[in-house]
This record gives sequence, structure tokens and C-alpha cells, in this order.
Amino acid sequence: MAYLTQPDYVKYICSCGQLKPITSLYFCRHCLKIRCGFCICHEVDSHYCANCLENMPSSEARLKKNRCTSCFDCPSCFHTLSIRATLVQPRQASTEASGDAKVENKQAKKMYYLSCFNCRWTSRDVGIPDQPVASGGWPERTNPFTTRMNQLLEYYKAIALQEKQEKLERERKKFAIRGKYITLTDKTGLTGAMARNIAGLPSTDGGSSSAIANFVASQASEEVEELPEDVYTKEVNLKQITSMAQRLASPEWQPAEVSRLHPLAKLLSVKRSQRCRACDHNLTKPEYNPGSIKFKIELLAYYHVPEVKIISHESMKPGEKAALLVKLTNPTGHEMTIKLLQPEDVPIVEEEEQKSIEKSLEKSLNLEKDSYSWRAICRPASYSALCRVREVTRDFTLAQRDDAAEYDDDARHDADDVIVWRKSNKLALRLEVETEASAASGAPARAALALQYSYRNTVPPAGNQPHQRNHTLYTTVLLDLGHVI
Ligand SMILES: [Zn+2]
Ligand SMILES: [Zn+2]
Ligand SMILES: [Zn+2]
Ligand SMILES: [Zn+2]
Repeated sequence: MAYLTQPDYVKYICSCGQLKPITSLYFCRHCLKIRCGFCICHEVDSHYCANCLENMPSSEARLKKNRCTSCFDCPSCFHTLSIRATLVQPRQASTEASGDAKVENKQAKKMYYLSCFNCRWTSRDVGIPDQPVASGGWPERTNPFTTRMNQLLEYYKAIALQEKQEKLERERKKFAIRGKYITLTDKTGLTGAMARNIAGLPSTDGGSSSAIANFVASQASEEVEELPEDVYTKEVNLKQITSMAQRLASPEWQPAEVSRLHPLAKLLSVKRSQRCRACDHNLTKPEYNPGSIKFKIELLAYYHVPEVKIISHESMKPGEKAALLVKLTNPTGHEMTIKLLQPEDVPIVEEEEQKSIEKSLEKSLNLEKDSYSWRAICRPASYSALCRVREVTRDFTLAQRDDAAEYDDDARHDADDVIVWRKSNKLALRLEVETEASAASGAPARAALALQYSYRNTVPPAGNQPHQRNHTLYTTVLLDLGHVI
């Protein structure tokens, strides 16, 4: 694995044309294609708080405005706040207290406050009273604009509903003109009331029109509040005013002074699963339990596609040849045969893919919109490679992955002009790279290299289609070889 700060020297070309490192790619075992975060569907599985690990369905998360009710972030530095306890000696109730009362008063009471371990901000700084219970009970501030916000929400919901109805009406007319009148109910078994319910809209039409009629739009005013007279003369104390990030962290109040900062309820995180757009199969699916970092399905390219790493290379000079050492790794549990090709020699199977996508889209009415976006995002990769890897006309066989062999120190040094060494499922190759004679000094030296590799598919296909186990797949990588000297 690469360091976080290290640039990606080897990038793979995704089937959508994006260039990504292997660590951010997926591999669909059903389409046998590389997919990336840009060309797959992301779905939210569950919401959870990253601090207390409480999880909740999305309806509850929406009600809570996607925030945890028991965890808070520091309003000053955004670190998670911790709950601290102190013993408080209650004040003497009165001077003429009886003996019994005195005994009771002596008992110290545990009180709790919120504190930031990073910047030392505490809830006492802004005068929030300590709480007698450790969890919950923190005073909630009401948004001063709640009424207006609700009015706006209602108004926009009504508008959305109106537009939806107009669209339905238009579609109905279109079908009627064509002579084949199909209502939405016939097509999907969905009634209008159900559709409104799914969209989270009110079920009666009367409410929506009255919400639009009664809505009072905001008016722009020329008169604005005057600035205080000393605004240019008063010395600014930066310790007392908030930064822009602090102010915008609570958009309802936007405190201008540090003394008005309040704890921020922690935002919820989501667990998401990812789906292949072409075949609708899951590429990743996390376990539901928020405490678990495991996946039920995890089809990462890192486990299925041969990995290419640059070991070293000579400097690239225009019109000259340079040596390049690369390492190939077979991550699969089966023997793999790899052949190096020039990128233009990779057979094009684009048409077939497009057909299969359209077929799967026909199945579901909902994905109709997606087909446009899919076509819009899939394009051939655009890159310029000034360097060219010299052709190697032979196959390389890589053994299957063997976790025990990871501990072996010895690599087999082959007396070979291409293979430098061989070690279980890894292979180091010595390649020759030629830089274009016209390459300008300082230009990025990049070389594209295509791999043809054998892949054994272990999942049987759905239905009674014949199971083809062995496949020949292709992938193209772009190697970053520094700059032309
Ligand atoms: Zn992609
Ligand atoms: Zn929480
Ligand atoms: Zn802090
Ligand atoms: Zn797929």
C-alpha cells in the first residue's frame, strides 16, 4: 500500500475512461470489467454515529437532521467533545439551616460538562450550566427562523408536487396521442397516492395549492441596519471573534463572537454499498453493524487485477532508450498468464457492453435517467504518452497467491533478459522504454502499457447460462516515469 502523501505513479484506465490507482478501483465479477467510484451507483445502507456507534434507519436520521443526539463536536476546533465530571459542593441553603440539612449539604454532587481535549474549550466557557446526568439533557437551542424554514419547506414541497403532476399529465397525453394509452398504474402497479407517498408528499391536492397561495415571498429592502460608528476605529481582538469555518458550522446562528459558540451535534456517517451500473450486482456491501469494518461483498480490483509497480527506471531523454524495472503481482488464487501489449492492440468490445447496459436498463423503469448519465460519463481515456514500452512478445506465467510465501526472503533470479527475478506470485521484468525524439525537456514522461491476462471466474452465472470459467481480459496502465530531461 502506498503512503497517503505519495503520488500515484501507476494508474489504471477504468472502463469509463477515468485514470485511477488500483487501490480505488473495483472489479465487477459479472461484467468482468474494472469499475471506479465515478461510474458505479452509490447507495446509503445505514446511518450511524462515528463516536457512539449508534445506528438508525434513514427515516430516523432524517428526523434528527442527520445528527447524533448524544455526541457533540467542539465548536472551536471541531474535535469530538468529551464528557467530564466534577464534584460540586452545594452551597449552604441558609444560615439557620438545621443539623440534618447540614449533613445533607456536605454530600458533594457529581456534575458533568463538555470539554475538548484538543483545544481546551469547555461548555462552561459559554455559560452552559453543568448537567446532573452524563448523557443527554444538554440544552437545545431553537432555530430563530423555524417558522420561516417550515413555510419555505412546505412551499417547495407543494411546488415539487405540482410539477410532478404536470409531468404525469404531459406523459399521459403523449401516450394518448400515440394511441397506446398506458397509465403509470398499468406499467408499474403504482397508484398515484402510492407515488405521492413514496415521494414523501402530502396525499391531498388541496393542501398543496393552498400552501402555494398562502406563501409570502421575501422582499428585498433597501434599508439595512447601519454599522456601528466605531466599526473602523475599534481595535479588533481576533481572540474574541469567530473564524468563518466556526461561524458556518452552525448556519442557524452564525455566532460572530467566541463567547456565543455552542457545542455542535455530531454529524452522522453512512455505510454505503456500491453497485455496478451495467449489471446491478453489488461491488461492495458492508456489514450492517457499525462497529464492524468488514464487508459482506468486497470486489476490489486489488484482489482480481494484476498489480503493476515501478521498481526503478533510468532517466528519460528525448529519442533515447531507457531501462524500466516493473513488478507484476497476481493477486488471485489461480495461475495467471500475462502478456504485455501496446495499448492500441487491445481489442475493442465497447459495443457489446453498451448493448448489455441498455438491456439491463430496459428491465427497470427507474434507471431510464441513468442511461443518459452513463453514456455521458463513459468516454475513451484521454492521456498523452511520450514514452513507449518496447514490445515483448512472450507470455509470463504467475503462480497463484500464496500468503505463506510472503515471508520467504529468497527470490529466484532467472538468467533471462526480461525476467529479473521471480518470487511466488510476483515477477520483476526489465523493459525498455523509448522516449519520443520530439519530446520537450521538462515534459511529463508517461508510458502506456496494456496487459492481457487470464482470469478464472469462480462465480457461476445466474440462471441456466453456461458457466465460462476462463477468460482473457485486458487492462491498460499509465506509468508515470518522471520528466523528460
Ligand atoms: Zn469508472
Ligand atoms: Zn453519537
Ligand atoms: Zn476544540
Ligand atoms: Zn457489472
